[in-house]
Amino acid sequence: MTTRVLVTGGSGFIAGHCILQLLASGYQVRATVRSLTREASVRSVLIDAGMVNEHNLSFVAADLMRDGGWAEAMQGVDFVLHVASPVQPGHVDDEDDLIVPAREGALRVLRAAWDAGVERVVLTSAFHAVSWGHPHTDRVFTEADWTVLDGPGVDAYGKSKTLAEQAAWEFMKGTTGPMELVTMLPVAVMGPVMGNDVSGSNHLIQSILNGGMPAFPHLFFPIVDVRDVARAHILAMTTPDAAGQRFLLSNGPAVEMKDIGATIRARLGAAARNVPTRTVPNIIVRIASVFSPQFRSIAPDLGYAKKTSNEKARRVLGWTSRDPEEAIVAAAESMVKKGLVNK
Ligand code: NAP
Repeated sequence: MTTRVLVTGGSGFIAGHCILQLLASGYQVRATVRSLTREASVRSVLIDAGMVNEHNLSFVAADLMRDGGWAEAMQGVDFVLHVASPVQPGHVDDEDDLIVPAREGALRVLRAAWDAGVERVVLTSAFHAVSWGHPHTDRVFTEADWTVLDGPGVDAYGKSKTLAEQAAWEFMKGTTGPMELVTMLPVAVMGPVMGNDVSGSNHLIQSILNGGMPAFPHLFFPIVDVRDVARAHILAMTTPDAAGQRFLLSNGPAVEMKDIGATIRARLGAAARNVPTRTVPNIIVRIASVFSPQFRSIAPDLGYAKKTSNEKARRVLGWTSRDPEEAIVAAAESMVKKGLVNK
């Protein structure tokens, strides 16, 4: 009998790449969307992205904010990849717009999976649940670290990811039975865009291509390729020793923004004409931060490159990952090809 996997948030960037890889590996895939009116457009995006075994893909409606649909979604499911969650780093007017669907949604998914006798749930958490709210440090962040919720610089998105993951582990502590949980902690995920939606960290690449900034501030980003993140989810689903573990999905040192720009300029030719070549001195950003909330949010991180380790994912999951440059170039090329960049 074929193994059936439920992927939540089938319309999303990372979930889409998970679905493509699951289908290519012969799994039956059921994907949740908030409304079945999305099914046709999500299917066509996946076809455009090279989907194989389309006959093994079905859809079901379920919203993280409502109980309805989840029991039906879990019927006959062996594994769940719970990827769906609102993704909106930075300022939001009401933090609960992110925290409630993330935390309550994770609990809804876990309860329904438990009731249905699912073997294992892989939950997409984030590096935002690991390294935010800590004073700047030279030490390497690992799976042992948790974001300090009342620490400096923790936004609503960071809180939503931390609280959702903590609630998931608490849920598992309060239950006895065979269901297992694994959580994935990707750093900034970049790579080939699905459809015309630019989500998550790919926004940075789009903004650089559009010349959205005249010069680069000295900011650093740890980057991982979405195709490797999807593969890690599948490895986490099937590797016996992964049960009950968190996995940091990072790939080498954080990349400075000016080097992201240099990679795009070197590889994208004329399409990179708006990518800046200059950097802005830290002192200018700090002065500007007195007047501008946008600069205020980045000023504390100038020159700070967080260190990360993927040793556990490599050792336990046998995971390998592409160079960040590949993720940057694939993201940029896909945006140019789809006309998602200002001319
Ligand atoms: P995305 O493309 O914005 O996908 C988010 C998905 O969540 C969408 O399918 C969205 O559905 C769904 N969703 C949001 N609110 C929902 C609700 N109330 N009910 C049901 N579905 C809901 O973002 P992504 O980059 O693929 O992120 C996927 C996961 O990876 C998230 O858990 C995110 O925190 C995590 N992550 C992302 C990154 C990154 O850099 N991208 C890094 C680390 C972790 P709609 O299409 O209906 O809105």
